[in-house]
Amino acid sequence: MTADLTARIREAAEARGVRIETAFPEPIVAEAGALSLAAPYIKEKGFRKPLIVADTNTVKVAGDRLLQDLAALGLEPELTLVKPDKLGDVIADEASIVQVLLDVQRVKADVIVAAGSGTLHDISRYAAYTAGIPFVSVPTAPSVDGFNSKGAPIVIRGEKITVQAIGPLAIFADLDVLRQAPPRMVAAGFGDMLGKYTSLFDWTFGRLTAGEPYSELVAAITERALADCAENAEAIGSRTEEGIRLLIRALIESGLAMLIFGQSHPASGAEHHLSHYWEMEFMRTGRRALLHGAKVGVACAEISGLYHSLAFEEAAGSAEAAEKLRLALERVPSADAIRGLLRKVGGPATIEELGVEPELLERSLAEAHRVRLNRHTLLRAYNEGKAARRS
Ligand SMILES: [Zn+2]
Repeated sequence: MTADLTARIREAAEARGVRIETAFPEPIVAEAGALSLAAPYIKEKGFRKPLIVADTNTVKVAGDRLLQDLAALGLEPELTLVKPDKLGDVIADEASIVQVLLDVQRVKADVIVAAGSGTLHDISRYAAYTAGIPFVSVPTAPSVDGFNSKGAPIVIRGEKITVQAIGPLAIFADLDVLRQAPPRMVAAGFGDMLGKYTSLFDWTFGRLTAGEPYSELVAAITERALADCAENAEAIGSRTEEGIRLLIRALIESGLAMLIFGQSHPASGAEHHLSHYWEMEFMRTGRRALLHGAKVGVACAEISGLYHSLAFEEAAGSAEAAEKLRLALERVPSADAIRGLLRKVGGPATIEELGVEPELLERSLAEAHRVRLNRHTLLRAYNEGKAARRS
């Protein structure tokens, strides 16, 4: 019941003779009933005034239960219900962050408990970091791989930036709670995982063509998490206990892989740059935000289609690198195969189903590499090569 999810990673490290210096959240529990372990943990750690951060949906599935459990143990829990924006979405923006900070100060909270999906985690991790108190993670949907991230993507004056924050002390991912998550959020978590197909390829590309840092261990952890998801798409789509366990484990392990590596290379390549580009465009034009993983899954299919169509001998720089890249590309399923996997889990599989126009796709394919100019993706090499041939 309290099996810690880090064991598999530690075994993989040991098998390679690698020492992991990174401090992980402790414990990380992804089991049915994990929610009931959160309150005793918070009491045992000596906290008195936990502030639960939830929204009107997640308070019902986890927040209320935490309030009751904590009060029953003699603690003085308080609740912040983060308000949605004008379009009805909870956003990790300055208004939400200040709302939580004001409550932290008012009730003199000594720990924050994030009870929600990725956005509530980003609000909580940045508010906790700013207030100088820790936070505990209670995910309510297996929707992103960022629960244990140290960085927080936040929106300030309509622009999305990623800022330094803190990772959680511990994670209690209750499968009974996660199985109740809306199907589109489960599909989004699966889409965020499928994005690893192209991010892992781009990581190999950056390593071979630009000497970007690389870790066999971190790549192997990410690959295994991805394979677990792809091989069990049907169970994940039907939200069986086993399917949801595999998905949340994969998302957390992918997050831990990034934590070990210290950068996002293993889990974020051109498909994430495309997704960021679409997100910024939607923000600029006042359109309702799409789920991160829904965008990443569709973007991954688009990037796969493009990459499989390219002859990249020139971009590779040497015949040897080109050969290695060709092998790496063989591990990326075709665009159609990726769309087939997305459909199995019930998520959007094409830009039409997602709600991205062909014009925006075309523009993003030409410009999205500028989102992160320090990253050497094949998309960037392709676009810069095109520009060089024109001039
Ligand atoms: Zn992602």
